Amino acid sequence: MIRVIGGGVMGLAVAAELSGRGRAVTVIDRERQAGPHHCSWWAGGMLAPDCEGETAEEPVVRLGRAAADWWAGQGARVIRRGTLVLALDRDRAELARFARRVPGAPLEAEGIAALEPDLAGQARRGLHVAGEAHLDPRATLAGLRARLAAQGVVFETGEARPGPGDIDCRGLAARDALPDLRGVRGEMVVLRLRDLDITRPVRLLHPRHPLYIVPRGQGLYMLGATQIESEGRGPATARAVLELLSAAYALHPAFGAAEVLEIGADARPAFADNLPRIRRRGGVIHVNGLFRHGFLLAPAMARMVADRLCDGITPEVCDEDHG
Ligand SMILES: Cc1cc2nc3c(=O)[nH]c(=O)nc-3n(C[C@H](O)[C@H](O)[C@H](O)COP(=O)(O)OP(=O)(O)OC[C@H]3O[C@@H](n4cnc5c(N)ncnc54)[C@H](O)[C@@H]3O)c2cc1C
Repeated sequence: MIRVIGGGVMGLAVAAELSGRGRAVTVIDRERQAGPHHCSWWAGGMLAPDCEGETAEEPVVRLGRAAADWWAGQGARVIRRGTLVLALDRDRAELARFARRVPGAPLEAEGIAALEPDLAGQARRGLHVAGEAHLDPRATLAGLRARLAAQGVVFETGEARPGPGDIDCRGLAARDALPDLRGVRGEMVVLRLRDLDITRPVRLLHPRHPLYIVPRGQGLYMLGATQIESEGRGPATARAVLELLSAAYALHPAFGAAEVLEIGADARPAFADNLPRIRRRGGVIHVNGLFRHGFLLAPAMARMVADRLCDGITPEVCDEDHG
């Protein structure tokens, strides 16, 4: 029986890969189900490897390309409508810079209106990055957990200390074993706005306050996310909320009438280069550092963990091995 400590997106993905290869798995988490206690709860659910390539390194783009299919294979509702990248007129230099780094189809006003009729007239230039996808992280976590339980994965609730043979997926709580892990705070808002129908994630470029909006269906939109070098998991600040809401309002004034349903914050677990790692130390396999790419990279990381345990293949993101 392999013990996976931590039932966030990383732990569940590892459990899915190992269980799928016939291994007996127990997942231990402090809490009984997905919820605000873990970072995975606050994610936007964008599976956008190309757009992330604007700032992320090559492995994120390459490994992230497998995510949409993997999640669909696990029964998640993956929506494949690409990403719409927009800039207001005053920020058009941002769009030109983005388009130099990210492959996409340039759009004029008519093209934007054809993709998202409710955004007609709100921006004159954009980019459509096809092949990207999104999902609802909360429904996905709950669905995967139920699926794994039905497959025979055992779920236990409690505090655990990883020991030899265990897989440590404790997110930021693993700093006791991974001292170079840091937190990068992210704040988000959930709105309800029934009068506006946006069907795919929209990124609004801005030199200081870039915004993304992820539709969750039935008039719900997740706005995200700040990125601050801080481990603080406390409530979102007024400034962060103001920035997110102002950007949404600049994208479409209809957001001014939205109901604010939720304001949240958490700290993303990240290493110095913002790339994830599989690290073996004292017989424990630590899988961590997903940064802003939890749903994007957990599938590839989980596959590498399973390849190592089942077939002895050294993972490409294994930076250390002390037995
Ligand atoms: C605002 C925001 C937006 C984001 N948007 C996206 C996005 O659009 N796309 C994307 O791919 N990623 C996104 N992310 C990043 C993503 O959420 C994280 O990378 C991911 O959640 C990290 O997952 P994890 O499983 O490593 O950690 P966590 O989700 O924190 O899970 C760790 C688990 O370990 C458990 N645990 C800890 N210690 C113990 C212990 N001793 N015993 C038992 N259990 C323990 C905890 O209870 C927790 O459930 C976003 C993050 C934020 C904050």
